[in-house]
Amino acid sequence: MPRLLCFTAHPDDEAGGFGGTLLQYAERGVETHVICLTPGQAATHRGGARSDDELSALRRGEFLDSCKLLKVRSGTVLDYPDGKLDRQNFESVVADLTRRVRQLRPHVIMTMGTEGAITAHPDHSMVAIFATMAFHWAGRTNRFPDQLENGLAVHHTQKLYYGTTLFTMPDRQPVALAPSTAIVELDPHQLEVKISAFKCHTTQAPLFPYFEEMVRKRGRLELFHLAAASTPRKVETERDLFAGVVE
Ligand SMILES: [Zn+2]
Repeated sequence: MPRLLCFTAHPDDEAGGFGGTLLQYAERGVETHVICLTPGQAATHRGGARSDDELSALRRGEFLDSCKLLKVRSGTVLDYPDGKLDRQNFESVVADLTRRVRQLRPHVIMTMGTEGAITAHPDHSMVAIFATMAFHWAGRTNRFPDQLENGLAVHHTQKLYYGTTLFTMPDRQPVALAPSTAIVELDPHQLEVKISAFKCHTTQAPLFPYFEEMVRKRGRLELFHLAAASTPRKVETERDLFAGVVE
């Protein structure tokens, strides 16, 4: 069974950035997995939570509800601190993500762009960088070899994609987006489920109108940039993230 792994920074990124694509591939029989690095405890909107721990617990629950709507096989929220991914130990985070890639053995990985997605959030940039290194290093015998002594094997993920868009948000910090090389066209119901999945994040309710406006603006297309592939190739616009992937 083909497998797709998505790395994100905060609960709600899975729906906002990748929701339609996650659902579409699940409906096509692809096993989908999401790993979110932080429980989003630094969010501005706190849904009545009285502490970071309370907000983390709420947001973990919301993430699972969203993943369920998007038919995600496994959704995992790690415990890195929201807003501080740029101050984590690079080697230990990449080791953690590399181990998870070696365990899940995806054919395709997707994550946010190094610019920080259209919101320019530094956590988004850091997820892109950590996930990119995990993509490359999971396949090498000389990276984190201790992991290979406990039954894990190296794993060559065939393609790495960054989410991207054809517009920016003028009220935010400037971003330089990766050019789109792959277009996933959603069915109308997949767009609606994506919006419903975002609305599972009820602590973030003040963002719903803004989010919905952005999603409608983006329309039924989710765009990606092919950042790396295990087989050398020229850029051509793809319509399927699994194009050319062998089982
Ligand atoms: Zn985010």
